[in-house]
Amino acid sequence: MSRTRLLLDLQKLDLTRDAALARLSRVAAALAASPAIAEAEAAIRSAEAALAEADRILRARTAEREDLQAHVHAEEQKLYGGAFKNPREVQNLQRETDSLKRRLATVEDAVLEAMLARDEADAVLTQARQTLADAARDGAARHAELVDERGKLSAVVRKVDARRAVLLGAIQPSDHAVYERLRRAKAGRAVAELDGRACGTCGMEIPVEEAHRAAEGTALVYCSGCGRVLHG
Ligand SMILES: [Zn+2]
Repeated sequence: MSRTRLLLDLQKLDLTRDAALARLSRVAAALAASPAIAEAEAAIRSAEAALAEADRILRARTAEREDLQAHVHAEEQKLYGGAFKNPREVQNLQRETDSLKRRLATVEDAVLEAMLARDEADAVLTQARQTLADAARDGAARHAELVDERGKLSAVVRKVDARRAVLLGAIQPSDHAVYERLRRAKAGRAVAELDGRACGTCGMEIPVEEAHRAAEGTALVYCSGCGRVLHG
């Protein structure tokens, strides 16, 4: 096999390997991050905090209502228990009881409002938990796809590495050194295929005798345009 054919084959393997490694790194990044789940978890934490606050308010309003109810009950006991005979005292007690009842009505409204707010916070939390469950299910399917792709890409890299090792055994060390130097300098492509007398990469035409030498493949011929090794 010609020296340049070996280098061209090496380049094909290297380009396949480069693409597989680039994709592998994107797959690894996608496996590491699942924004939908993180967002759903944050929404649950926020909904749990809102529910705890709604519970706290409801407990406070309920305790306030119970205190007032007990107070009203005690006043009514005094009022109707006959302990007070003086009409002025009875009138004062009646006013006080009426005032307490008005406050009780206000607090009862507040209890009702707190109950509604609590129900609403509970519904928000239920929805957030459902969103997390959906995200986890979707995420699990996507995760499985990515793991499968990672396995396939790793297999490609292993296969390429094995073929590359065999190929390197047939390439002269000095040619390999030229190839690696050009590969680094020329965006991964050290070898260009000739299309007639034109470089397949940059389009520069080379003299007939150079094209013949490139076709023989016994010496390395370089493109005068892009500097790559030419394979005829
Ligand atoms: Zn060229």
